[in-house]
Amino acid sequence: MSKFCYYAIDLTATGVLMSEEKKACDLCGLTVEVSGFTLKLKTGEQKSFCCEGCKGIFQMLREDEVLPE
Ligand SMILES: [Zn+2]
Repeated sequence: MSKFCYYAIDLTATGVLMSEEKKACDLCGLTVEVSGFTLKLKTGEQKSFCCEGCKGIFQMLREDEVLPE
């Protein structure tokens, strides 16, 4: 019988998450270094922003398209 290492699987899964491609800010186009500044639209689309400021401006400009949090 061959052994299966569950820890190895976990490490692989983490590696995949870590190598996720960086997104560009949906307002100013800068690379999003910190995740967490995101908004969901009523269309189901998810927008990412580089900072709280960009998120706030986008939310203000497209108020009726953004899902309330
Ligand atoms: Zn930005």
